[in-house]
Amino acid sequence: MKHTKIISITDIEKDAAALEEAGRIIRNGGLVVFPTETVYGIGANGLDADACRSIYTAKGRPSDNPLILTVPGKESVKEVAAVITPTAQKLLDAFWPGPLTIIFPRKANVPDAATGGLDTVALRCPAHDVCRAFLRCAGVPVAGPSANLSGRPSPTTAAEVAHDMDGRVDMIIDGGPCKIGVESTIVECNADDTVTILRPGGVTIDMLRQVVGHVCVDTSLVTGKGVPKAPGMKYRHYAPSAPMTSVVGPVEAVTAKISTLYKQFKAEGQVVGFLVSEEVAAHFPQENMYIWGRHGDKTALANQLYTGLLFFDTHTVDHILAEGTDSDGLGMAIMNRMKKASGGDIIII
Ligand code: AMP
Ligand code: MG
Repeated sequence: MKHTKIISITDIEKDAAALEEAGRIIRNGGLVVFPTETVYGIGANGLDADACRSIYTAKGRPSDNPLILTVPGKESVKEVAAVITPTAQKLLDAFWPGPLTIIFPRKANVPDAATGGLDTVALRCPAHDVCRAFLRCAGVPVAGPSANLSGRPSPTTAAEVAHDMDGRVDMIIDGGPCKIGVESTIVECNADDTVTILRPGGVTIDMLRQVVGHVCVDTSLVTGKGVPKAPGMKYRHYAPSAPMTSVVGPVEAVTAKISTLYKQFKAEGQVVGFLVSEEVAAHFPQENMYIWGRHGDKTALANQLYTGLLFFDTHTVDHILAEGTDSDGLGMAIMNRMKKASGGDIIII
């Protein structure tokens, strides 16, 4: 078991010594959890195979699930990417720093331990000042998957990180709550001027369409069949502590459906938890209730979803009744995660 040092950073200049220390830990092969605008990441030297392997151990992550390398700016891409196509360059110019991960052919210096043996590497530059200052101090690309134990919801606060990672990492940098709350969009650039979304996230399909010719979505995400191009998408993720049913639709219809389900579960003697909007919450008992925001507010739902799922770690229930949203815009990422969290049990009215 490691001794985990937790540091809180608000001012990059005042806290320069702590960030230098975090950078040294990375260069020496250690593990540092860092904040980003999406979720917290668990970082190791992305060019050091042993350090990358220690991420898999800390998370209990399957070894064929590749890591995203996090870099402080566009200039770092050429250190690890063998080719930057004109399409990739357009995406870099439009969306970095920001919640967009781009897949590149990898250079030989990127170890198999980072890519799960793939000949490509996933790169991202977070829009988060503390994160980028930390990455500059590290001086190497930092492999940084989400800082949760494998299968659990991703952490969006340092307290949630500590719950899963205390004793497993050398340092946790507390940079406050994450702004977006769901992971980055992952895209692959095709041979023509088009891209494929492998995982929906903070950058929406419409935002991508404004920059590149044509955008498609990995068919396995849409149909639920076939092998996803992002290996991690095949695993059950974001699993809350109880089975969950998600309901999507107009507020009255969602309230009526959740009411019917609630009565059924109650009649069976089951304890029910709720993960719903303010409008729906008003109709149910407030015990075991997590309110994510106003009905239809996708920014709030993305921001609160994982904390809401983790709420049921400490509020023990037999079944969670959740309210989702339509799949437009940020809704595509939200509903992709909700579908996994509820094992596909989604009711659209
Ligand atoms: P995480 O950072 O834990 O949220 O997960 C990283 C995601 O990126 C996983 O779904 C991986 O499968 C995906 N990923 C990382 N590298 C690649 C790559 N070279 N090609 C395709 N997907 C990747
Ligand atoms: Mg993850």
